[in-house]
Amino acid sequence: MQSKNLTTIILLAMLFGGILGAIFNLFFMETTFVSVFLVNNVFHVIGQVFIDSLKMLVVPLVFISLVCGTAALGDISKLGRLGGKALLFYIVTTALAITLALGLAILAGPGEGFNLTSAVPTEFIAAESPSLAQTIINMVPNNPIEAMANGDMLPLIVFSLLFGIAIVMAGESGKRVEKQFNDYNAIMMQMVNILMKLAPLGIFCLIAKTFALQGIDLIKPLLGYFIVVASALLLHGLISYSLLIKILSGLSVWKFFQKMRSVQVFAFSTASSNATIPVNVENAKGKLGVDNSIASFTIPLGATINMDGTAIMQGVATVFIANVYAINLTMTDYLTVIMTATLASIGTAGVPGVGLIMLAMVLNQVGLPVEGIALIIGVDRLLDMMRTAVNVTGDAAVTVIIANSEKALDKKVYNS
Ligand code: ASP
Repeated sequence: MQSKNLTTIILLAMLFGGILGAIFNLFFMETTFVSVFLVNNVFHVIGQVFIDSLKMLVVPLVFISLVCGTAALGDISKLGRLGGKALLFYIVTTALAITLALGLAILAGPGEGFNLTSAVPTEFIAAESPSLAQTIINMVPNNPIEAMANGDMLPLIVFSLLFGIAIVMAGESGKRVEKQFNDYNAIMMQMVNILMKLAPLGIFCLIAKTFALQGIDLIKPLLGYFIVVASALLLHGLISYSLLIKILSGLSVWKFFQKMRSVQVFAFSTASSNATIPVNVENAKGKLGVDNSIASFTIPLGATINMDGTAIMQGVATVFIANVYAINLTMTDYLTVIMTATLASIGTAGVPGVGLIMLAMVLNQVGLPVEGIALIIGVDRLLDMMRTAVNVTGDAAVTVIIANSEKALDKKVYNS
């Protein structure tokens, strides 16, 4: 199947899944056949199998393609420069995202006049979020197999980079191993291709299930909050990235978004940047023309430390909760929010719902009640899907910009 056709089918699967799910939610959730058999069994099982099969590829794909990429770079100083650039871009785009979100939230004032007594919050118990110091310590695996088994991205990246560097240093033996890794890499690509063919069914089931369970009733009382988050995501996702790509690389913005569509649908339906890594890496290499040495490094790194969409939700949520509890935030508080949310983004794992847990850290920093999170849990699943789509778009945008600046982007492929 041609990739263009496949993208169309994936988009249609998402659309029909959404429509069917919404119809089920409105009219048929009382019917056992629909709610128990279809939604909670058929859709749930197929959707979960699809997510698990994506996750299955993450560790081997990151390891193999990153080893190949680093070995191909052949120069440790280049690696340092790449890492530095990626880190800088990821931090700057996240800070930009949250500033935009705060600005919009302050203007729109979601949560003002919210009736706290009539709200029936789900209980929220804040989980312990890892400290920055611990995140840094955890970057070096004390056992790489354990890191792989747990799917811990940063230690896996560190180990793979070292392995790739050592291949370059090992001369003839290294060359032989590099050749083998390149073969494994080609095989991994085929595994991603197989999964892509199954994607329409998986995405249809995931979206249909979510829309069947997430009715509009959940959103209504929080409509203001929902709209502000969604608008900030849209603004950042479309305008900020377009400007960055245009100004910093001069590449066609239209081509970028056209080629990102299927990756965004994957992120939207799985709500997980991590699970989207295989598709995002292959898309960056195959469709955007980014060299493997860059894509295999910056995309997994971005999926782990770059969460622009998540930071946007956290910014709006902070203003919303402050408004609901009628607590005034000062300029210093806003700056603290920008800093903590940017740092929280680094420590947020690319899996569903973690953004909310890290929000506790942001709220704590400015002395807002963490229980406020309970108010927004109800609408978080849908927002999680949207912000994950923005998160992975940010990873790809930065990847394209870096690749272009390193002359490692095939413009013929990008513009094809
Ligand atoms: N689901 C998001 C991601 O995987 C993280 C979050 O905001 O909860 O990128």
